[in-house]
Amino acid sequence: MNDSSVAPPAAAAPGLAGAGFGERSVAVAAVAARYAGEVDSVPRFPAEAFTAVKAQRLLGIGVPSSLGGEGAAVREIADVCYRLGQACSSTAMIYAMHQVKVACLVRHGRGSEAIERLLRRLCAEQLLLASSTTEGQGGGNVRSSEAAVEHRDGRIHLERRASVISYGSQADGIVTTARRAADADSSDQVLVAFLKEDYTLTRLQSWNTLGMRGTCSEGYTLEASGAAGQVLPEPYEAIHAQTMVPCAHLFWGSVWAGIAAGAAARAQAFVRHAARHAGGQTPPGAPQLTRVLSTLRTLRGVLANSLRAYESRMDDVKALGALDFQSQITLTKVEVSELAVTAVLTAMRVCGLSGYRCDSEFSVERQLRDVLSSPLMINNDRILSSLAGSSLLAPVPGSLSD
Ligand SMILES: Cc1cc2nc3c(=O)[nH]c(=O)nc-3n(C[C@H](O)[C@H](O)[C@H](O)COP(=O)(O)OP(=O)(O)OC[C@H]3O[C@@H](n4cnc5c(N)ncnc54)[C@H](O)[C@@H]3O)c2cc1C
Repeated sequence: MNDSSVAPPAAAAPGLAGAGFGERSVAVAAVAARYAGEVDSVPRFPAEAFTAVKAQRLLGIGVPSSLGGEGAAVREIADVCYRLGQACSSTAMIYAMHQVKVACLVRHGRGSEAIERLLRRLCAEQLLLASSTTEGQGGGNVRSSEAAVEHRDGRIHLERRASVISYGSQADGIVTTARRAADADSSDQVLVAFLKEDYTLTRLQSWNTLGMRGTCSEGYTLEASGAAGQVLPEPYEAIHAQTMVPCAHLFWGSVWAGIAAGAAARAQAFVRHAARHAGGQTPPGAPQLTRVLSTLRTLRGVLANSLRAYESRMDDVKALGALDFQSQITLTKVEVSELAVTAVLTAMRVCGLSGYRCDSEFSVERQLRDVLSSPLMINNDRILSSLAGSSLLAPVPGSLSD
């Protein structure tokens, strides 16, 4: 499929200055929606959508203007994820993962010449960053690394069996966790940023999954080398608590909320369409539409609350590290993913067979397959187990105002 409107001319970039993030993401969403079916069925990277993302210069919006970006707030980036999620889940998730990495580099690479240079290039050239945390058989245990950064001849070297790197082959760079040094403990980690010229990828595993197929999350052996300055100066432990977890949960959650909103819109359109063709009589699943919209409202409320909580603490490292905030932001992922699955499943009940079919204009089967990845992407049960101890100590509020 081709469409000349897919790639706005490069000269359009300066004119974007007046356009808001909302307007620019709507333009990308239109392209992403057009190719979403093909991206899922092949499966393949959503190339047309990312040509549009780059043309709209949306990759660097989270970078401060002093480094060539637009200094977008967390909630503005989350809104782009939500809008894209309604159009193409894979496009939205790729965009979200990139923005999580950008947020880590912006906040924790400040003052590092190598990282600031990388961020300037990212904005100027609209570079797409991938993420590597999953390693070997370690699953979603992000706070443990096997491969270590080695220092040789004044350079750093890393070889890692990365079991999942979404869009690894298409990305312009990879931001990866690693053990600080060969003699460091598995939880003594750093975050390292490599650009394409710094590494090779050898494919270990394909990506043939139920949903999120366009993320192309293949497994690779990553062999990288670079300058010592590419290791972020702060320990990963701090990056994880202050930026990685909050941004991942808020941006991923916004993608899942967007998928749920897309399914809700289809369910509503189905009920209207069916009623028009049955003399005003609504289909049997129609009462479930109220439940879909109510679940979506709850889901958006959880996200909005956590976005506010994060933005209000961003400059207060102590408040970010506090147990109640860490529990809230961690559980946001659990709550949002489960509400999103419920909303999409209920939307399918509204649409009945038309929603269940793969070839209907009211189909929600792709959205359902995609959103089912959300409880697994860092397994909710892993998260709940890790919070089991603090749940025992947490006071149960005795009043509504507590
Ligand atoms: C759409 C999507 C995109 C993703 N993109 C990325 C990405 O870009 N970068 C990234 O780093 N990660 C990515 N992930 C991975 C994600 O972050 C989690 O690491 C992953 O979802 C956890 O997988 P799991 O269910 O295997 O692990 P968990 O449920 O956390 O743990 C499974 C446990 O089972 C055991 N186990 C698992 N597989 C085997 C096996 N074959 N043999 C023996 N034991 C085994 C291991 O002990 C492992 O600890 C992505 C996941 C999804 C769904």
